[in-house]
Amino acid sequence: MDYEALSELLFPDITKTPSDLEEKYPPRQLKENARVTRFAPSPTGYLHIGGLFGALTDVMTAKATGGVAYLRIEDTDKKREIEDGVSAIINGFDAFGVGFDEGVTGFGTEKGDYGPYTQSKRVEIYKTVAKDLVKKGLAYPCFCTAEELTEMRGEQEKEGTAIWGYFGKWAKCRDLTFDEIKAKIDAGQPYVLRFRANGREDGKIIFDDIIRGKIEMPENIIDEVLLKSDGVPTYHFAHVCDDHFMRTTHVIRGEEWISSVPKHIALFKACGFKVPKYAHTPQVMKIDEEDGSKRKLSKRKDPEAAVSYFVEEGFPKESVLEYLLTLLNSNFEDWRRQNPKADIFSFPFNLKKMSSSGCLFDLVKLTDVSKNVISVMTARQVYGYVLKWAEKYDGELYSLFKKAPEYAKNILNIDRENPKPRKDIARWSQVKEYISYFYDELYEADFSGMPENLSKEDIGAVLEKYIEIYDENDGKDEWFGKIKEMCEPLGFTPNVKEYKKNPESYKGHVGDVSTVIRVAVTSRTNTPDLYMILKLLGRERVISRIKAALNGIK
Ligand code: GLU
Repeated sequence: MDYEALSELLFPDITKTPSDLEEKYPPRQLKENARVTRFAPSPTGYLHIGGLFGALTDVMTAKATGGVAYLRIEDTDKKREIEDGVSAIINGFDAFGVGFDEGVTGFGTEKGDYGPYTQSKRVEIYKTVAKDLVKKGLAYPCFCTAEELTEMRGEQEKEGTAIWGYFGKWAKCRDLTFDEIKAKIDAGQPYVLRFRANGREDGKIIFDDIIRGKIEMPENIIDEVLLKSDGVPTYHFAHVCDDHFMRTTHVIRGEEWISSVPKHIALFKACGFKVPKYAHTPQVMKIDEEDGSKRKLSKRKDPEAAVSYFVEEGFPKESVLEYLLTLLNSNFEDWRRQNPKADIFSFPFNLKKMSSSGCLFDLVKLTDVSKNVISVMTARQVYGYVLKWAEKYDGELYSLFKKAPEYAKNILNIDRENPKPRKDIARWSQVKEYISYFYDELYEADFSGMPENLSKEDIGAVLEKYIEIYDENDGKDEWFGKIKEMCEPLGFTPNVKEYKKNPESYKGHVGDVSTVIRVAVTSRTNTPDLYMILKLLGRERVISRIKAALNGIK
């Protein structure tokens, strides 16, 4: 067979050769051991938490080695593509501050010298490589129809072949002559281009997966489709060309691709390309609420599968990234303890420290991480984040915050900006409820939290007395001194230890007195610093709430 003639017959318009591409996309000039990684989503839906997890792995790997991480859009499957797929991906990453050095930056925009970074714009590249494969006798046209392929599959099933697919005696078009091919093309018969696999049926390949170690698998013997009948490449072929010409050093992708590695390695070799290093990341799992089993996060069942969930709930991006890193590298938490203020992207991320079994995504743990992250933010930062979140998701909170920024910041500053900040808030959607008693518009009186050991009369007496001694100008110590002084005349003790020793001698202790005041003015039993709350509420509101409580408990 004259393969050169066949390549001209199949690709008359392709004038470039792989050497032209080598020249156009030269090896990158990076320092030794710098890693070039890519995140390569298909725009088929919203950004999944697993996607964010994967992209973070790519970005962290590149950052830790002084390399490059780029975003490539794999849009060869037009049937599965959704309209806003690319924007959904880009907006998802923007919301979490995960940025790529190169690649697609928006709908129709990109940066970097190794583009285009969208597969549908790279058809000439794939065809150039494909033509070269035909020229070397490593690819051939296949005219089998869908019906013929289904029939073949049926027969393979009947025969019980170990592998299903187009190979060996089933590969009917493998040895067509030039004249047969030409006649079919002249007759307008559609065809795909297939790889001429050269693996042995009993052959094995061994490759090193950075996360999983050595993996042994059967060699590829399938004549995989490289170009579909419309000339569009399959994922297998496209990613091989792209990872080579974009000079990817490390292919980091989900574990569902492990089974395709033999195919991919065979393709890299056939094309004369260096095989990249592989790292197959574990899946993001969760414990099923119903049966306690460990399962994959599901788009259908789990709202937290979509990254938009975290945006809508108001988890700060810092919390989500911080939490994902605890899942990605087991030593992250130690590093964080030693570097409490360091930028997350300065963490020396290491693929080798990734676990190969599924990562458990746990909303409770995320909530804890987030409380820590938010607790060390300044009140100004929190105010800014809440305002931005509320603008989109809670108009009422937005207008309250917008109207009186200083008041809001002062509220948010209670028990904050000190060495032991309070850890209450995990997401912005909790803030309104958390601070509602500071706003008459939101406040709903509820005195059910009054201490149970006290009678209505005792509670009434505490509140009457408090109105008497309350002076909004008192400093904190003075204020608390007065509360203690209130105790004895009312039958309480200022000394909690003493109360515990002789509970029958008192109505309650100083803590009960403060609880009565707390519940009266906030309708809560648990709040941040009561002194600051009273200060911020101001005399008028404090008195009117206490009066309302006096009425309410009657
Ligand atoms: N487009 C493929 C996917 O979305 C990417 C696989 C890869 O990273 O190579 O699953």
